Amino acid sequence: MRFNFISVWGGFWSKMGSNLFYPQETGRISDRLYAIRDRDINLFLYTDGQSTLCIDAGYINNAYLKSDFEQVGIDPASITHLFLTHTDMDHAGGVDKDSKTNWFQQAKVFMGRDEKCMIDRSTARRFIFSNPVEISRACSLLDDGEVIHVGTVTVQAIATPGHTPGHMAYLIDDEILCSGDALVLKDGNIEPFYRTWNMDHESAKRSVRKLAVLENISVLCTAHTKCSHNFESAMNAWRG
Ligand SMILES: [Zn+2]
Repeated sequence: MRFNFISVWGGFWSKMGSNLFYPQETGRISDRLYAIRDRDINLFLYTDGQSTLCIDAGYINNAYLKSDFEQVGIDPASITHLFLTHTDMDHAGGVDKDSKTNWFQQAKVFMGRDEKCMIDRSTARRFIFSNPVEISRACSLLDDGEVIHVGTVTVQAIATPGHTPGHMAYLIDDEILCSGDALVLKDGNIEPFYRTWNMDHESAKRSVRKLAVLENISVLCTAHTKCSHNFESAMNAWRG
């Protein structure tokens, strides 16, 4: 893997920060929703039995996820749509051009339009250091509010900048919210993602407020801090 300050920095914190990162164990979350744990982060799979979509790709060279896909009974080759919340190495490393493992070969890849500047390196992730992930395959760029149909399933992209400029949360079938790194769950309450990793913390707070107006969310899936079936109460502090 390319040696980069950002990857060392992220790797250090992901090893040291178990009080900051506590992902869901691999398994079923609800009817059609499954979590896959890749070290300190979750990928989420959603299937209508015919088509399967995945939120985020995990780390580079994540061949070790084979047993996790087997455990939830989903063949990664059946994933038709991969939605990236953003392009940090723990979310998009799985589709890095140099990854020896690519579970998403068959999938069409989507990400936020404003995330392009992270991948083409016109914007630095931190100080002068660029994002370590390089994606050479075609990506469809999504705008805020855009809806993609995956078989009978709908996925709405919700622009939630702050952590990165093009960060997207995804709303599946109007009831499952995959927030990526727009927020964390701390003792059952929602907070913006940790300031240290946010490129624009004020904008990250505005994104949390934007998500707070969503109604009838049955499951909130965060990337690093588990899931919640109590979105309404978890968002209490951010309404009004
Ligand atoms: Zn992350």
